[in-house]
Amino acid sequence: MLDACYDTSAVQAAVDLANTLKPVRGEDFLESVAQLRGFLHDHPALGPAEPSEPAAEHATGVRWSPTEEDLAEVRSLRETVRAVLERANTDAAGAVALVNDGLRHSRATPVLRLGDDGWRTEVVSGTDRCSHHLAAAMFSALASVIATLGPNRLGACAGPNCRGTFVDLSRNGSKQYCTRACAHRVSVAAYRSRHNAG
Ligand SMILES: [Zn+2]
Repeated sequence: MLDACYDTSAVQAAVDLANTLKPVRGEDFLESVAQLRGFLHDHPALGPAEPSEPAAEHATGVRWSPTEEDLAEVRSLRETVRAVLERANTDAAGAVALVNDGLRHSRATPVLRLGDDGWRTEVVSGTDRCSHHLAAAMFSALASVIATLGPNRLGACAGPNCRGTFVDLSRNGSKQYCTRACAHRVSVAAYRSRHNAG
């Protein structure tokens, strides 16, 4: 079987970025430069591609030392990524317009990179801006999911009081909740309400 053409780590990074905001609880985990540095450290594949760059340096994400300006840009990117994930299901054309705009704006450029398992393509930005590299990787990954699996694979959690976002890469594509914990909470609540009603 062929590997899927989307970059799963970039797909996950897009979801993780959107979920640094918990809109229902009003919690925000991307309020400081230190938090952005942590996010970049946890998603090392989002760095710029430079063939001369030592692999270890790339892998630890130390190339980026983000500034306040980067933080503001990544926060604004987060709004767009969340809008794409939340909308794709009901307004595919609107979500796709945001993705295309994001690709253009970040000057997304495919490059070949030599990894441990051989050559692979990645999408980076033609600029040196941190937020543009994130945007190029995330929007191209979401674009590939939309093109291969369809826009309804992107979504926001159906759990009450959640709105966590997800991308469903499973075989049957029936995901409704951001996490198993959320699905479990909902089924327990449904059980209790049936029990109380009976
Ligand atoms: Zn949820």
